Amino acid sequence: MLTNDAALVLFSGGQDSTTCLAWALERYPRVETIGFDYGQRHAIELAVRPRVLEQLRSLKPEWAARLGEDHMVDLGLISQLSKTAMTEDIEIEMQENGLPNTFVPGRNLLFMTVAATVAYRRGLTVLVGGMCETDFSGYPDCRDDTMKALQVALNLGMDTRNKLETPLMWLDKSQTWQLAERLGGRQLVDLIRADTHTCYKGERGELHDWGYGCGTCPACELRARGYRLYHATSSHNRPAGAD
Ligand code: ZN
Repeated sequence: MLTNDAALVLFSGGQDSTTCLAWALERYPRVETIGFDYGQRHAIELAVRPRVLEQLRSLKPEWAARLGEDHMVDLGLISQLSKTAMTEDIEIEMQENGLPNTFVPGRNLLFMTVAATVAYRRGLTVLVGGMCETDFSGYPDCRDDTMKALQVALNLGMDTRNKLETPLMWLDKSQTWQLAERLGGRQLVDLIRADTHTCYKGERGELHDWGYGCGTCPACELRARGYRLYHATSSHNRPAGAD
């Protein structure tokens, strides 16, 4: 069912944000996307974005009609301010504080704030992000409370009544695949498998059943485990070629 709101989706070209984009395209009559270039090691994500957008447009004519402008924003200042395994060529490992060294402090706060600024200019009233508390490496800026507090802060600071929507917040990775299947059938699941990118190391050599990637970094492991659980429990409507 369509609402009157117009949405801006934080779209990185990965599995989660592509699922969020499909979710928004089912719900809002006008949807725009925003992506951030912050010197991330897996810049391959940014490279796959245009193709994913094109594929989503060809999946459903109503999605093509609703999907509007894509905004790319240069946030190179993140790699100037913070040295992490996300932006530097160092091994991914756990830190003493229990967070992986892929954690870029405040990154999602910054992303949402920049998105809110663009939404303000474009007259968009809903911000959609793929933040998830369930199995997302424990990043504190992915917490539901963080997003709710940020919604209040942004609306106070910009004098708006915008909503921050996080449709994946309480889903695990296998449920995220299920949501994709509900939104766009096996065609969307296949699109996400083949065209989106999640691997921290940026590898796209071999197409596994769960998609491209090194298969051993935390992002690949999470994606592969989720896909296999989804595949094992979804007895019908399996993606073609996934067996
Ligand atoms: Zn990987």
